[in-house]
Amino acid sequence: MEPQPAPYTLARNKSYCNFCPGYCCYRLPGATLYLDALDINRLARHFGISDGTFRRRYLENKNTFRTRADGSCPLLATDRMCKRCTVHEARPRQCREFPYDKPCPYLENPGLLELIQPRVERSLAGKSDDHR
Ligand code: SF4
Ligand code: SF4
Repeated sequence: MEPQPAPYTLARNKSYCNFCPGYCCYRLPGATLYLDALDINRLARHFGISDGTFRRRYLENKNTFRTRADGSCPLLATDRMCKRCTVHEARPRQCREFPYDKPCPYLENPGLLELIQPRVERSLAGKSDDHR
């Protein structure tokens, strides 16, 4: 039997992340980013504030980020030329691990992209309220 080429995958190794506006940094219905106590403490130390202050400033429901009006994470850069995580070194574990060594679902699923792309474009156009 002829050897088959390896299946083509997009962001399995995060190689596309540097060129992506951060689709995974926008909340979709049913998808929630959870922060554990270690994440919260790491981020609080990153900002030089207490865990409690970090929780009050950035979290809702104890362990997930508040979002801006467009659903974006409050720690996503608002620079119109570059949408990036502003706390990259201290970002939560779930952000580090996504997409869990699998193809990135945002880049492979047109339905997800259709949901997220308009939010990204509104955000890039500066039409998002900043709820920080
Ligand atoms: S995991 Fe996917 S959506 Fe998130 S930054 Fe990387 S390529 Fe973009
Ligand atoms: S902490 Fe950074 S990587 Fe995680 S959702 Fe927010 S902006 Fe995206």
